[in-house]
Amino acid sequence: MAKGIDIPIQNRNAGNIVSENQVICKGCGLCVSVCPKSVLALSTTKINPAGYNPAEMINEDCIACTSCAKMCPDCAIVVERLD
Ligand code: SF4
Ligand code: SF4
Repeated sequence: MAKGIDIPIQNRNAGNIVSENQVICKGCGLCVSVCPKSVLALSTTKINPAGYNPAEMINEDCIACTSCAKMCPDCAIVVERLD
């Protein structure tokens, strides 16, 4: 069963919860660089209130390894394993 991180509702993939606070996110890309499954990318369409392109999920391949959450300097990501 898939696992995941919770980015806000509109980015939530079926079976995965990866929560990424896109308001806090400063678009540094560290989470993107450490994801072993290439699940994350900086948005090319969204800009948060601070003027950054936030990270978002781009596929459903998350294995809930939590690397992204551990790497984020602003604790913007929470990973929740569902199974
Ligand atoms: S928990 Fe792991 S697999 Fe899932 S998005 Fe974060 S780094 Fe990628
Ligand atoms: S590491 Fe944190 S602040 Fe940097 S892009 Fe990812 S979620 Fe945003």
